[in-house]
Amino acid sequence: MSNVVRIRASSWPSLFDCAHRWEAQNLLGMYMPSSPRAQLGTAIHGGTAVFDQARMHNTPISIDDAAGAFVDELHSTEREVNWRIDNTLSKRDAEKIGLTLVSRYCGDISPRYTFAAVELEIAPFQIDCGDGLHIELTGTLDRTRVRIDTNGKGISDIKTGAAAVQPSEDNSTRVAKTKGHAAQIGTYELLAENTLQELMTEPGEIIGMKTTGTPEIANGFINNAKLIMLGDQGNAGLIEHAANMLKSGMFPPNPQSWCCSKKYCPRWDACIFHD
Ligand code: SF4
Repeated sequence: MSNVVRIRASSWPSLFDCAHRWEAQNLLGMYMPSSPRAQLGTAIHGGTAVFDQARMHNTPISIDDAAGAFVDELHSTEREVNWRIDNTLSKRDAEKIGLTLVSRYCGDISPRYTFAAVELEIAPFQIDCGDGLHIELTGTLDRTRVRIDTNGKGISDIKTGAAAVQPSEDNSTRVAKTKGHAAQIGTYELLAENTLQELMTEPGEIIGMKTTGTPEIANGFINNAKLIMLGDQGNAGLIEHAANMLKSGMFPPNPQSWCCSKKYCPRWDACIFHD
């Protein structure tokens, strides 16, 4: 009998952070309200996506219009948000930070790009993992752009967060944090290629937006992200590792995860592995 398991592109990092938590959230239906920073990120994505889509369709809108879309999204009641979970970010501060970042992105960053797709709606993509298991990669490429470079196309993904921008290795400049994002970029590359029927030949890009202290925007690149998902002759990729977990039903806990907290893990009360 065939068993299709849908895995959202954005949930891959969580699967390999604490698989026990991932199982709770994605297979057992356990749920927690969004955090203020997640809501801020969603709203920033909303405002910047409206701006980029309008540019792509040659019907540009103003930065004020994008800022308005950001504010509407921030105050939207469609998602449940626990504003008390994080005493470092009030709604008023979130609005101030978000408006700065959205304005800067629309004025300085977006005009540098030509986009082939913004929030591409993807075609279903199933991978036969053997023994009747199919992994279906899902997710509109929301928060993500397909950009056109001189030599081909590549994925650009906006990431917001307290540490989304950091010093470069040689400390000479500021760059987007790319660590931990390769699986998601690799998944987006596979999904975009399957939907557009065209190879993503250029490196994946993270456009980082720092949402604490002085707001900052910087980018960083990820090469060979698909390799992490698919593996090679000598190494199983993450899809194969995920398939093994799904087939065995064993989802190992990781009490050292930074999300291992009553604040962020819906399995906390039932989990015997945390401190
Ligand atoms: S409480 Fe910690 S170890 Fe247990 S599922 Fe949650 S994150 Fe994983």
